[in-house]
Amino acid sequence: ETLDKGLEKSKSSFFSKLSKAVAGKSKVDDDVLDDLEEVLVSSDVGVNTTLKIIERIEERVSKDKYLGTEELNQILREEIAGLLSETNVGEATEFSIPETSKPYVLMVVGVNGVGKTTTIGKLAYQFKKQGKKVVLGAADTFRAAAIDQLQVWADRVDIPIVKQEMGSDPASVAFDTLKSAVAQDADVVIIDTAGRLHNKVNLMNELTKVKRVMQKVVDNSPHEILLVLDGSTGQNAFEQAKQFTKATEVSSLAVTKLDGTAKGGVVIGISDQFQIPVKYIGVGEGIEDLQVFNKYEFVDSFFK
Ligand code: GDP
Repeated sequence: ETLDKGLEKSKSSFFSKLSKAVAGKSKVDDDVLDDLEEVLVSSDVGVNTTLKIIERIEERVSKDKYLGTEELNQILREEIAGLLSETNVGEATEFSIPETSKPYVLMVVGVNGVGKTTTIGKLAYQFKKQGKKVVLGAADTFRAAAIDQLQVWADRVDIPIVKQEMGSDPASVAFDTLKSAVAQDADVVIIDTAGRLHNKVNLMNELTKVKRVMQKVVDNSPHEILLVLDGSTGQNAFEQAKQFTKATEVSSLAVTKLDGTAKGGVVIGISDQFQIPVKYIGVGEGIEDLQVFNKYEFVDSFFK
């Protein structure tokens, strides 16, 4: 039910637009499809993904000859779930931590303000609740506030954090964090990194260096690179996904702030375009407000 509440704004805006698009029409024709295209684009699904969805509906219309507007909901729902299936295989999946990767290393990337620290805190809390021993690494050394904020979350969750002064080498912090995690026999390490997009080459070099240094301590680390995107920024989130996927091998996504926005459709477009699974969605500021992304629940709450 938190998910329904979290997505309320996206849902009501999507629905009022959708009902306007089909008002007074009994069958899906070109006009309805044009309007639907506009609805999807203005719900931040993104142009490419929207066109894909429209094409699929067109195919069904031409195959079945007639499609009533009252069926449109159901069909849209099926097509969107189908799109999400291609990137999020099966049911909801959280990070599964293999016994063989100890510690399991999660590197988190994303620009300032997207909710990166909050997401790290919420994730750490979930891992701890599962009985895992978690260590945080404050490798976003560019801003003092980033280190302080991560410390606040470490205190809140009551887990150790490894940090250095502001301005220190992020790779050195990551190295220390992994050393400390190994010494403490930790299960999970979450490394916060800086995400300054104004200089792509620097970002790439920094992330590459952090990774190289981590691998000196833990083989094959990081096991996961999680990109955090702010869902309320709509098309900006697409742009950030583009930049980060160029700079490093992002393996999963977390989309935050879906509670305060009407742009929930961004999840559909991003997961379709980048073919990277959305693992988590943020639906509030509290410690419990991070959900494992389940495509069926998501699509259902959008269409309910
Ligand atoms: P960072 O700079 O990327 O580390 O961002 P923070 O984690 O500090 O978050 C920036 C602001 O967004 C804070 O006020 C958070 O409480 C807020 N925030 C983060 N995630 C969510 C979310 O899912 N929903 C809402 N409503 N706020 C969020």
